[in-house]
Amino acid sequence: MAHLREILRVQRLGKNQGGYLGETIDIRAVLHDVQVAARAHGWSQEIFHEAGGFISLALHRKPEVRSQKSEARIYISTGIHGDEPAGPLTALKLVRENRWPMNVEILMLPCLNPAGFTLNRRVNSNGIDLNRDYRHPKSAEVRAHIAWLERQPRFDLYLCLHEDWESLGFYLYEQNPDSKPSLADEMIEAIHKVCPIDPSNIIEDRPAKNGIIRPNIQPHERTDWPEAFYLITEKSRQGYTLEAPSDFELPVRVNALVAGVNAALKPFA
Ligand SMILES: [Zn+2]
Repeated sequence: MAHLREILRVQRLGKNQGGYLGETIDIRAVLHDVQVAARAHGWSQEIFHEAGGFISLALHRKPEVRSQKSEARIYISTGIHGDEPAGPLTALKLVRENRWPMNVEILMLPCLNPAGFTLNRRVNSNGIDLNRDYRHPKSAEVRAHIAWLERQPRFDLYLCLHEDWESLGFYLYEQNPDSKPSLADEMIEAIHKVCPIDPSNIIEDRPAKNGIIRPNIQPHERTDWPEAFYLITEKSRQGYTLEAPSDFELPVRVNALVAGVNAALKPFA
């Protein structure tokens, strides 16, 4: 891994003045490649929303073997903010690499806001931040996503993959109301090998330590629910929102998100 850090530039680029100004992606091409890779590895696919030539895609990987060990259902979503290209690229890399623990079932949503990517904007084509729209949804994308979620059994774990254009390094949010064994330290340790961790004591106005934020959230006191609030309230009792620092090179951020997901899945192997 030392080689990787030498090859890739792992310091901030200083490009992001007032917003994300780094590389962008052709989201239609990325989603096409995700579909090809998913097909090649035997995943099933569902298009749960279609508008303006964009698809909202859900991928499903069934556990490979019926083992003694109980199966885990893991939900991974990304691409809800159109100025965070590392997320969909991470979904593509994970599906292509196909290194999942055998007994895990994966639900993967590789891009929740495809229109946002063609605009390189956080919001959708109507200016709605989808990640604030999960309590009283106004957007067609989130309505369709919630309708899809309502058809799914509960998840043992959720992972939401994001980027932050301002941060000094990688960080993550943990939701773990039942105090299950935390996955946060292992994730940070794995990510640290490929990407700097944000050392700040305060991140996004919340106390942080070693890149980990454990907010004590009260979903019912807020109306502008992010996806994670919906998931922890309705679908799961443990989950993480991963935030890659988008002022670093794009491959660094993709490798960091991939490392974080793989570390989170390890205990389920
Ligand atoms: Zn985001």
